[in-house]
Amino acid sequence: MKMLIGGEWKAAASGREMEVVNPATWETVGTVPSGGHEDAGAAVDAAGEAFAPWADLPPVERGKVLFRTAVLVREETERLAATLVAEQGKPLREATDEVRGFAHVLEYYAGLSSSLYGESINTKAYGRIIVERRPLGVCAGIIPWNMPVMIAGWKIGPALTAGNTMVLKPASTTPLTTLAIGDLFLKAGLPAGVLNIVTGPGETLGEALVTHPVVRKVSFTGEIGTGRHVAETAAQTMKHVTLELGGSDPMIVCDDADLAVAAAGAAGGRFYNCGQTCTAVKRVYVFSDVADRFRELLVEKTRAITVGDGMEKGVRMGPLNNAAGLERIETVVEDVRDEAEVLVGGKRPEGKGFFYEPTLITGLPVDAPSLREEVFGPVLPVVEVEDLDEAVAAANGTRYGLGASIWTKDLGRAERGCRDLEAGIVWVNQHLKAPPETPFGGVKWSGTGRENGPHALERYTEEKALLIRS
Ligand code: NAD
Repeated sequence: MKMLIGGEWKAAASGREMEVVNPATWETVGTVPSGGHEDAGAAVDAAGEAFAPWADLPPVERGKVLFRTAVLVREETERLAATLVAEQGKPLREATDEVRGFAHVLEYYAGLSSSLYGESINTKAYGRIIVERRPLGVCAGIIPWNMPVMIAGWKIGPALTAGNTMVLKPASTTPLTTLAIGDLFLKAGLPAGVLNIVTGPGETLGEALVTHPVVRKVSFTGEIGTGRHVAETAAQTMKHVTLELGGSDPMIVCDDADLAVAAAGAAGGRFYNCGQTCTAVKRVYVFSDVADRFRELLVEKTRAITVGDGMEKGVRMGPLNNAAGLERIETVVEDVRDEAEVLVGGKRPEGKGFFYEPTLITGLPVDAPSLREEVFGPVLPVVEVEDLDEAVAAANGTRYGLGASIWTKDLGRAERGCRDLEAGIVWVNQHLKAPPETPFGGVKWSGTGRENGPHALERYTEEKALLIRS
């Protein structure tokens, strides 16, 4: 496939290409341009030219284009989901949900398109003060590989609805579905240059977008280290920056919780997307007096997960997306083998693909350093705590603060979790779900800013104050 720049499909200026590999089979499933500095410049130029006419459209007209795209995406769900499985590795059922989720995000923002109001105050001394919300201009969206389609929607939806144009850069291992969706935007009547999709390495192409003086906002989703670098670099040209970074989400299971429901929630919350979700359940803190029963139930749930190629029927967990991720998971498990017990899994199966078995670990002390870092794969540590005080202190004892959940029937405990857990999202008796109405993002090192919800529209605008006297 080629890149989408100014409404046309283009090769990289250098002519270089990169291969996209199926993580389950190691077969090449496509090639895309390996773009660089020049291509980033061409995409920003195209987005710059498209900006004024797009921003001048009545907001409802912009919304209609998003609605039409959502219709086409829903019609093409089967094809898009199969492409997503081939490049990302997730099971078809999850890929289908993700594609539909993308359409849902577009529909949500299309519905909000006419509701971006300004403010007005009448004063005797200064006359009428009007605060308008103006789009920012050209925005860059930088996307990771774990939920490539959904996260693209979280950026495209509010940016375009608010009247901005965008240059989107998918991760190098997962560009194909996003490019296919770019084609549907064109078919839905999106004017050339409003959405540009460029492919290539983050260190060159991504960097070129973040340093480009015309780009007014960078919305970045990825690792903390990359995010910090992006924020530092974007500051050189005073860009707006939203950072959606990593998480190490705790799940607290109290002794009054429905343990069967909690065990299902832990398995679903961790092994969904092969553990590669920013808000996956990454650590379980369970009260000691119910720990044995909870572990039994969780072991049962984990053993029932069928691992395989995401296109095969009945497969519940696919491979990791890439070799580096698999190596990191192997190291994480080897590093704790001496101090912890591996209850289930703990190795990669024979054969091709970046597979790793769904793995449960127990016996780690509550202050184990490994629990403070993000583990991005199918490994779940279950740690015993005496009470809610110890659980909340352990949950908060990390630099991350993306999501957290508490499982209990006691309203007081639930309220305590909502109040004291340091996270952008706290779930009670559930984990992971985040529909477009939910402001999504982290506290502490998990990021700055929020995506989704009506306020995300404001984050793609800036106020302009008008003081008018007659
Ligand atoms: P990553 O930081 O390696 O890459 C993310 C994107 O940044 C890719 O497109 C990459 O090419 C690009 N990039 C790399 N270097 C760059 C540079 N110098 N300038 C500009 N762009 C550059 O992250 P990843 O491995 O793709 O994704 C996994 C991480 O993303 C995990 O930490 C996960 O928790 C996090 N994540 C967070 C959220 C959230 O909403 N908070 C959602 C999904 C994933």
